[in-house]
Amino acid sequence: MVKCMKNADLFINENEYQDLDEAGCVARLSRAIRFRTTSYLDTRKMDYSQFDGLHAFLREAYPLLGQLARWEEIGHSLLITLEGVDPGLKPALFMAHQDVVPVIPGTEENWHHAPFSGDVSGGYVWGRGAIDIKEMLTGELDACEYLLSRGERPRRTICFAFGEDEETQSHGAMAIVETLKRRGLRFEFILDEGAGHVSDAADWGAPGALICTVGTYEKGYADLELSVRSQGGHSSNPFRGTSLGILCQAIASIVEHPPKPVLSDAVKRTIALLGDRVTQPPMRDWARDVEGNEEAILAYFMRHESLYHLVSTTVAPTMITPGAPAGNVMPQDMRANVNFRLIPADTPDSLMAYCRSLVPGGVELSWAQQIGASRPSDIDSFGYKALVETLEHYFGGVIFVPTQNRGATDARQYEELSRCVLRFGPFLEEEDVTAEGMHGTNERVSVRAFMQGLRVLIRLMDRTCFAK
Ligand SMILES: [Zn+2]
Repeated sequence: MVKCMKNADLFINENEYQDLDEAGCVARLSRAIRFRTTSYLDTRKMDYSQFDGLHAFLREAYPLLGQLARWEEIGHSLLITLEGVDPGLKPALFMAHQDVVPVIPGTEENWHHAPFSGDVSGGYVWGRGAIDIKEMLTGELDACEYLLSRGERPRRTICFAFGEDEETQSHGAMAIVETLKRRGLRFEFILDEGAGHVSDAADWGAPGALICTVGTYEKGYADLELSVRSQGGHSSNPFRGTSLGILCQAIASIVEHPPKPVLSDAVKRTIALLGDRVTQPPMRDWARDVEGNEEAILAYFMRHESLYHLVSTTVAPTMITPGAPAGNVMPQDMRANVNFRLIPADTPDSLMAYCRSLVPGGVELSWAQQIGASRPSDIDSFGYKALVETLEHYFGGVIFVPTQNRGATDARQYEELSRCVLRFGPFLEEEDVTAEGMHGTNERVSVRAFMQGLRVLIRLMDRTCFAK
């Protein structure tokens, strides 16, 4: 993919909200980073006093929210509810997570600023959590505090949900969802983290057009275990084949016959949004009649590395064990694993039935783990449109398009509470900075990207929750 410009070159309307206290917003992010809210799979290693400290800090750092909203600790997760004046409106939910991934032991010396320093230096706020995702956490609260400081109260109820273990188990998110369900709450829209990638749409047949992805659902994840039992024995008599040979046939059959690709609504919408910008054949000739050219478009997508995963359940054989101990011995019981990332059109059940139809007899199939794709959000909904309109206001010349996310986040837990669960962090940091810092070394966010993302949140919250 071609990309010559920096994300910051796309920023427009940076002069809005002149009265926003930039130094204060930056200082609050910096302070939040200093709490070592590291998440571990082994929860005995977690230092919950850091979470308690963060909660106390947030309450005093946002005095209007501290006074007007209801703050609830659910375990060490946080649910904040600011009641709107119009009970006829469904509430909006803004999410983030408090926890951060550990600093990789041995890399501390490679950080230009200590990982939990929260240093503000060289135009950046430094530290673990700066882009994943304390900037979203304090940014959402800053946006709300700013709007409250103008003396208005929201018409729509605003909730904030900050889980404690997104990076590991999402138990915090599950507990919050249980609470919200018990209260019978349903949300107009939900906004959670998600990386937006700006790229040239050359592979879509639209070179020169810039697209940025907004996550509207997640692909599924499944590990299929294949096992074959056999006697083994001396390899001079492989009359019925060996367990390894049978397993290889089964894997090859699945790889050669992947599930049928499907054009999702998100892909169709992207082609429609690109419209006249699709100038390159063959997509140019097909884009005007997507339904009529569906097979050709799917075949084209399957040939492109940047596109194929958007339309297909991917198939990746990943493990095979144990094999024979020597070259002249036939292996006995063997197992293999094939990993799938499912599109919504394929369910774990349908995929299992399909795989059974492909593999030879004698191969047993079972799921080692499986979770289907999530339900795609409504891309004609109020929340989706409001987010995209807001993003267009701050990132010039970019076409925002719906897409799938590959990783699982807390947002997944909230899907039964809304038809519109959006995964998009509006802090468009440069990709090299993100690549180095995300779960890595020298995590940081530029003050400029942080403030621009903050403007997105203010305008979004204002238009969806405050404005008449
Ligand atoms: Zn995250």
